[in-house]
Amino acid sequence: MKLYAVGLGPGDEAYMVPQARKVISESEVVVGYTVYMDLVADLLEGKELISTGMMGEVERCEAAIQEALKGKQVCVISSGDAGIYGMAPLLYEAAEQYPELEIEVVPGITAAVSSAAILGSPLSNDFVTISLSDLMTPWEVIEKRLDAVSSADIVTCLYNPQSKKRVDYLKRACEIALRHKSPGTQCGYVRNAFRESDSRSLICTLAELKDTDVDMFTTVIIGNADTRVVNGKLVTARGYEV
Ligand code: SAH
Repeated sequence: MKLYAVGLGPGDEAYMVPQARKVISESEVVVGYTVYMDLVADLLEGKELISTGMMGEVERCEAAIQEALKGKQVCVISSGDAGIYGMAPLLYEAAEQYPELEIEVVPGITAAVSSAAILGSPLSNDFVTISLSDLMTPWEVIEKRLDAVSSADIVTCLYNPQSKKRVDYLKRACEIALRHKSPGTQCGYVRNAFRESDSRSLICTLAELKDTDVDMFTTVIIGNADTRVVNGKLVTARGYEV
């Protein structure tokens, strides 16, 4: 018995791996957040769908597991990669008591990677991702991680940078970064990378980023001392002599 955790990539189906499309097409039951269901609507005809609105994340995972234990092919879909701030870990944990159920993760292009490609090449050397969502990670932990990566001058991708409830989180993150980094550090952000609706991107300095309003559809990249703007693109130099 097998249960799939499928990453859809950023949105546009040209950026979804062929295996994701194959697994979704072959599944009898597809589980996921409504917005992601819409991204693959053409693949879902005639399938049993379990989506938000109906239940929360844990319940959805449990429903997916129960359907898979009946012998149906089930896939749980996440945007980007299912293992990166996605549903895959939840599936492993919720199915721990059913070792006969194999869980297979189909990787997808995560937001850091798709956003970086739009901005240029900012992730060319070491980088980290940090989610600013404190729903499950306490803010003190997030702050400690931000401080550590900023003091080590590692390029940082911020997921969940801001939401209606968490209005000043990006500002707070920038203030922490500014403890160690120059206000002129080059940064960028991408909203709705590779999606049809309202996709945009901007390159700015860390000082400018601090006073920028973004939303939960945005990924922010804070560069390091080697990040610069080359012909309008954000590039972290690797150190080659050119
Ligand atoms: N599993 C997803 C991340 C889910 S967390 C992945 O691997 O990409 C949700 C966050 O991902 C959003 O708040 C945003 O920061 C980022 N994100 C997801 N899709 C995006 C897109 N198309 N463009 C920009 N950021 C995106």
